[in-house]
Amino acid sequence: MDSRRDFLQKLTLGIGATALTDLPATARELYSGPKADKQLRVAIMGLGSYGTRVAEAMKDCKMATLVGAVSGTPAKLEDWKKKYNIPAKNTYNYETVSKIKDNPDIDLVYITTPNSLHYKHVLQIAAAGKHVLCEKPVADNAKQTREMIAVCEKAGVKFYIGYRMHFEPHTRELIRMREAGELGKIMHVNNYMGFKSGDPNQWRLKKALAGGGAMMDVGIYALNGARYATGEEPIWVTAQETKTDPVKFKEVDETIMFQLGFPSGVVASCGTTYNFNNYERLYVIGEKGFVELSPAFSYGPIKGRTHNGPMNQPVITHQTLQMDGIADIILNNKPDPNVSGAEGLKDMIVVDALYESIRKGGAKIMLAGK
Ligand code: NAD
Repeated sequence: MDSRRDFLQKLTLGIGATALTDLPATARELYSGPKADKQLRVAIMGLGSYGTRVAEAMKDCKMATLVGAVSGTPAKLEDWKKKYNIPAKNTYNYETVSKIKDNPDIDLVYITTPNSLHYKHVLQIAAAGKHVLCEKPVADNAKQTREMIAVCEKAGVKFYIGYRMHFEPHTRELIRMREAGELGKIMHVNNYMGFKSGDPNQWRLKKALAGGGAMMDVGIYALNGARYATGEEPIWVTAQETKTDPVKFKEVDETIMFQLGFPSGVVASCGTTYNFNNYERLYVIGEKGFVELSPAFSYGPIKGRTHNGPMNQPVITHQTLQMDGIADIILNNKPDPNVSGAEGLKDMIVVDALYESIRKGGAKIMLAGK
């Protein structure tokens, strides 16, 4: 196997990150070979800004092909047919989408609709017998997520979350270093992710479509990152909310600081906001070393340093890696790097507890039995 194929295979598996430093750092170079024989055939549901980003990134995929689209806007479907060479028979609207079950040319539907529609859309796609990849946050709460997992299991379809960082090379290297013991016993984590929210009329500020505010949208990265930085599951949480603009953020949270307590005694100190920019970092420190990623969760390029110096992982479009990674997992029956519905549930249990803590004035919420 040549080094590029070897690289891709290791990357999609989420292993072998040490070899990456020797490789050229551009996506085009790394992705310049032919497409694989087997392809995961993907339809995107919700042709908004993220759906479009995924469609563009999939042009470079080796194992996944965009073949279908679901939208309530006929003009968007027309546009996508031309732009991405999608046949008319693979296009649906939200009323006809259940007919996708009769379409043998689509394997998986990637749901990129607003947060609070994920629950309904995942159930619809599972009922149609197609594998599901659903954007974050998986749902509004843990209760919905449990139901989504059960329905997918019963339907015999795979259910993954668009946790793209788990395919990103710097993040993979951080996880590898922690698992290899290179950081020693983990002592502390400090993660944050936020930005200044713009348009006051966007769905992200409406509870019925967003489920919540900054926490649901991007705080989830800090939380998920604390779990992969420690390799542990939190046992308690505390959270505090501040709101400087109660008009704009009438329905959803603006800024939340939260703390996660882990069984080893590590406390992760985290934050999220819709109120200011340049707030993005993952920092994990152990007895033997540290990793700092900043930017850590956005499209990047992700940059990092460790106790050994600057990190030198390749910069590759996250959505390209994610889609090839998901294709490899499904087509070749590989283990997934913690992006299953069950992982989404672990995060939603914590999110529920964070909101509960805020409602109770910052009370410590124990997670056992949640
Ligand atoms: P968007 O508003 O640009 O796109 C949402 C799409 O859903 C639009 O095409 C819209 O027409 C469609 N839609 C269907 N029913 C709708 C309804 N009832 N109300 C409003 N829109 C409806 O939003 P986006 O930024 O693309 O976000 C979509 C999802 O992708 C969200 O869950 C978000 O969290 C996620 N996302 C993930 C990332 C990431 O990096 N993983 C980045 C951005 C967004």
